[in-house]
Amino acid sequence: MIKQQKTAVVTGASSGIGAATVQVLSAAGYQVILAARRRERLEKLAQEYGGIAVELDVTSSASVAAFAAQIETPVDVLVNNAGGALGKETIVEFDEEHWLQMYQSNVLGLARVTRALWPQLQKSSAATVINIGSVASEETYMGGAGYTACKHAVRALSETMRLEWLGQPIRITEIDPGLVETEFSLVRFAGDAKAAKAVYDGMTPLVAADIAEAIRWVVSLPEHVNIDRLLIKPRDQARVDKVVRR
Ligand code: NAP
Repeated sequence: MIKQQKTAVVTGASSGIGAATVQVLSAAGYQVILAARRRERLEKLAQEYGGIAVELDVTSSASVAAFAAQIETPVDVLVNNAGGALGKETIVEFDEEHWLQMYQSNVLGLARVTRALWPQLQKSSAATVINIGSVASEETYMGGAGYTACKHAVRALSETMRLEWLGQPIRITEIDPGLVETEFSLVRFAGDAKAAKAVYDGMTPLVAADIAEAIRWVVSLPEHVNIDRLLIKPRDQARVDKVVRR
């Protein structure tokens, strides 16, 4: 029997967890649509792993609409991964621009992309939406309020999707990583490589492929099985702010 190829959309596919997810989903047989702002990087990854590179800025409604308009196939897997942290200011010194940008990408961006791809998700006979939260979706730390508030919101969105879509053939999984060594800290600290490296000093962090493997597993399960949430931390991390360094 000829089986139709399934389609997966990965946002934030130009680096880190998103890029690793493209690799594993392509290898698992999906047609992957790679989405992010840095088009050149997407094209390079698409050449290497397969898939189609499409520029997307999740903070722009116009960009999200133009992106969704290009997708004609059903969307069987949507990985809402685009996002990250900016700065680490305390509440009394918070940088409004940082907090607005984090809310735009991690929260509104996730909702915008999901809303725009809703028709394509409904065309799938069994879809899975994976929202990348964080250990920061359930814990807080000093200087982390802007980011943790956004990732707590990802928890709220994931749980609400499960309520609003009950009865439809759509699974919703929230994957909450602990420390993963990607460009995350470099972006957070505005390109300060020393500050970024210090986050992982003396400990063994996760790598992007560890999270991608969890995504591969979640989507490979029989379609009646919904993994609500996976909290995945390195062995060297007990809490968001409790890390052993040797
Ligand atoms: P990363 O290497 O910095 O990747 C972030 C990705 O998000 C990039 O591909 C970036 O692409 C994309 N992105 C950012 N803003 C975007 C926008 N406005 N529109 C479209 N794409 C955008 O970091 P990562 O660790 O892989 O992060 C992926 C996700 O995991 C994020 O949601 C992050 O919050 C979460 N997370 C990371 C960790 C960690 O320790 N690394 C832990 C928990 C959760 P462009 O710049 O090309 O647009």
